[in-house]
Amino acid sequence: MIPQAFEYERPASLADAIGLLKQHGEGARILAGGHSLLPMMKLRLAAPATLIDISGVSGLNGIRDAGSYLAIGALATHRDVAESDIVRGGCPVLAATAAGVGDLQVRNRGTIGGSVAQADPHADYPAVLLALEGEAIVEGPGGQRTITAADLFTGYLSTSVSDDEIVTELRVPKVSQGAYVKFNRRKADWAIVGVAAVLAGSSARIALTGVAPTPVRAAAAEAAWNGSNAADAASHAGEGLNPPSDTAASGEYRVHLARVLTQRALEQASA
Ligand code: FAD
Repeated sequence: MIPQAFEYERPASLADAIGLLKQHGEGARILAGGHSLLPMMKLRLAAPATLIDISGVSGLNGIRDAGSYLAIGALATHRDVAESDIVRGGCPVLAATAAGVGDLQVRNRGTIGGSVAQADPHADYPAVLLALEGEAIVEGPGGQRTITAADLFTGYLSTSVSDDEIVTELRVPKVSQGAYVKFNRRKADWAIVGVAAVLAGSSARIALTGVAPTPVRAAAAEAAWNGSNAADAASHAGEGLNPPSDTAASGEYRVHLARVLTQRALEQASA
């Protein structure tokens, strides 16, 4: 339960943080809220030689209405996102998702950028970001680039953010009709399966968490949705899935959950 020894850096600016990442190379890891990385270090599942704590970097925790989209700084905590009037008004599904992450302690420290960078297959934001067709803004020695949610999550705990890049901002469109529902055993537990549904006219974008190493779109359910047939569309949500079985649930049960939760998400989003 004691992590391996590490060096600690606490830059005050984004440029300094990027410089430190380059300087320390492969053994360096960004530390944001620490609510995924520190438990992994204590379990010796991660042993970075240097932690670059970005919690003191100014300008990375703002939330703004940018007109056609909302821009959320990577260091915004889950609580910031849940309680932001801008997010509640412009993208209520994201605020509600943030309000359901872990418990209050986790929401006070954990950050949206850290969650997206961690890319845990049971995390809540990745599926919601995918259904929203949001984007991550990342910055590294080569400058800034934009990664769409569809290109961001590449595998188990893996993203297309390079080792020398930092997620600086998440961008989501303004969406009034959306819902995220998850199934867990106890209130603050991680999702066994979660479903995000975002509606626009008679079309739906549906993304699932907990059924694959990355969040996935439920393409067959999206194609079947006609604007009002939640049960019928949801019956297609398991198509193409082959989820793993583990101590939390069998693969078969996860497929069942995907169907049930897709129906609930579509019904909630269209209510
Ligand atoms: P950290 O732990 O600091 O970092 C995580 C990883 O991301 C590290 O590899 C780090 O190097 C990298 N990183 C962090 N920020 C950046 C950045 N800006 N740019 C590039 N890389 C970065 N999550 C859920 O979704 N749903 C839950 O229900 C849930 N329940 C939880 C319950 C408990 C008890 C705990 C401890 C955690 C839970 N979490 C849950 C995870 C929580 O949301 C974490 O806060 C989140 O996954 C990681 O955010 P962080 O800021 O703590 O990141």
